[in-house]
Amino acid sequence: MRVILAQPRGFCAGVVRAIEIVDRALQKHGAPVYVRHEIVHNRHVVENLRNKGARFVEELDEVPEGAVAIFSAHGVARTVERAAEERDLDVLDATCPLVTKVHVQGRQYVSQGRTLILIGHAGHPEVEGTIGQIPGTVLLVQSEADVAKLDMPLDAPLAYVTQTTLSVDDTRGIIDALLARFTDIVGPDTRDICYATQNRQAAVRELSTEVDVLLVVGATNSSNSNRLREIGSESGVPSYLVADGSEVKAEWFEGVQTVGLTAGASAPEEMVENVIDALRALGPVDVSTMSGREEKVEFKLPAKLLQPLVAREV
Ligand code: SF4
Repeated sequence: MRVILAQPRGFCAGVVRAIEIVDRALQKHGAPVYVRHEIVHNRHVVENLRNKGARFVEELDEVPEGAVAIFSAHGVARTVERAAEERDLDVLDATCPLVTKVHVQGRQYVSQGRTLILIGHAGHPEVEGTIGQIPGTVLLVQSEADVAKLDMPLDAPLAYVTQTTLSVDDTRGIIDALLARFTDIVGPDTRDICYATQNRQAAVRELSTEVDVLLVVGATNSSNSNRLREIGSESGVPSYLVADGSEVKAEWFEGVQTVGLTAGASAPEEMVENVIDALRALGPVDVSTMSGREEKVEFKLPAKLLQPLVAREV
């Protein structure tokens, strides 16, 4: 079998930064440090950090007063920030800067007197964080059908922002429906919401034209990994989401010559290797990487994690 790896795939700059923040916090403060919610949606990443001494909690009342608390890459509501202050927690914020940018845009629109519409998936932690960062009402829209149900005057001043793990293509139909229905609505240039979501989806769309089967390495609760699998299916290619090689099934590859392999933004490259090993166990494989976009994006770490560590290393 030929195995073609998507380019780009796997970790984005926001995930690299979030994991680095937990790692450095552990080095600086020692175990335990407390992480609110899974730092990124990947069991292997979470287990690895847990083994190093990170403790994962769902709510801040599980964190002892004064302890180090890290907010996950998905961002948190204002109420969570306030609760951390009240409990005197030493907070490190691993919210991806691109998520923070959406919060800032949303607040700006609201300060202009507009009602905010958030395009995203109900219940996703990023969506809950964004809603909780905006003063006033936020209307969540998940589909074009939801746009028709919005109970607002057609000339009401409105604005929209979107969840970062939705690509331009995902949101296009909903935004078009909003623009068609309402006369006074504005929104950001959606092309720059998240480079990683956009690039991974574009790569999978291209890869799907060349392969018989698509494998996506990622977690079932990872929004962007699920979306990559859906794009493969929409292209007519049987597509499977797997956490690692143990979930690969031999029957998927009967008569298959070419397999496409990608990974969601929170899936480590070791798991891609692990899946390749599982494919090798089925027979000889020839692995290559598609030509694709090189990503050079890096996000700065919080300043308070930089200096003391350098001093310690010296
Ligand atoms: S997928 Fe995009 S928004 Fe989400 S953490 Fe990665 S870079 Fe940030």
